[in-house]
Amino acid sequence: PFDVLIIGSGPAGASAAIYAARKGVRTGLVAERFGGQMMDTEGIENFISVPETTGPRLSAALEAHVRAYDVDVIPGEVATELFPAAHPGGLHGVALESGAILHARTVIVATGAHWRHLGVPGEEEYRNKGVAYCPHCDGPFYKGKRVAVAGGGNSGVEAAIDLAGIVAHVTLLQRGSRLKADKVLCDKLATLPNVTVLTEALTTRIEGNGRNVTGLTYRGGDGADHHVDLEGVFVQIGLLPNTDWLKDTVERNAFGEIVVNDHGATSVPGVFAAGDATTTPYKQIVIAIGEGAKAALSAFDYLIRVPAP
Ligand code: FAD
Repeated sequence: PFDVLIIGSGPAGASAAIYAARKGVRTGLVAERFGGQMMDTEGIENFISVPETTGPRLSAALEAHVRAYDVDVIPGEVATELFPAAHPGGLHGVALESGAILHARTVIVATGAHWRHLGVPGEEEYRNKGVAYCPHCDGPFYKGKRVAVAGGGNSGVEAAIDLAGIVAHVTLLQRGSRLKADKVLCDKLATLPNVTVLTEALTTRIEGNGRNVTGLTYRGGDGADHHVDLEGVFVQIGLLPNTDWLKDTVERNAFGEIVVNDHGATSVPGVFAAGDATTTPYKQIVIAIGEGAKAALSAFDYLIRVPAP
């Protein structure tokens, strides 16, 4: 059995693996895809101390760093079920899609999240070429340009407020008849001169010139199609944690995020979690890496304090 078994090889999981291996404990890493969401992104400019890199480049560096340590990497595998230990200090089981079951005294869940997509023509074609999901990450790429935000919940309205300070103009499209964000956010949004809010506006197509986004089409409340010229579309209709496989084993909140305390501990003794799969706010690479390190140090602390039953 492993002392520390990490599920997920994005920034949080890779960081946890390095921190665990450096303690000299038996460390396993279920690595479906090194880099995680970073593999879906082009430019990264906010990984502190690296002014500019790309997702694939940072992912390769992450993998090389993990492989420099004694980590048992289990590639191409997906965890399908967690069997928590019957008693604190006991062995947890993790079932894999291949049918194998791994055992470990501590488990760190770092299975990340994925953005809900609009599912309209042009969205996949222009991903990273005008279609974006993360305003903290990609907002500055649209300095002085026109963008839309699709989604009128808290994340959509926050994104519109954030982007309005950077870009020339923001069009916020909300499918329903009114914004669903908190009132303070809607009030703040209403004060911004370079934001247009469209309600009953269903985004139906993202258009481009083969290289970049040039506009979008939405179906209005009048049933007619309308066109907006712009350079970017931020899709803000939900970040979904990859935690369904945990079922009721660990406590999750209404969004499906794993509830962690400030040590990265979950509701199950010996099971820790880190990164976008958790309740930790602000889903970013630097944060996921920090949280992964923290979860590994907490797991090590557990190993030395909690005796096997
Ligand atoms: P993830 O990166 O999601 O990694 C989780 C890993 O677990 C994945 O490899 C996944 O395949 C795997 N996994 C999922 N389920 C299972 C399972 N059941 N069993 C085994 N493995 C599983 N952040 C920034 O800081 N700067 C940026 O510029 C930036 N740009 C972004 C651009 C895009 C398009 C996207 C989508 C995100 C961007 N982010 C950016 C956010 C950043 O990528 C995430 O915050 C970060 O990757 C989260 O790390 P993580 O390790 O928690 O999860």
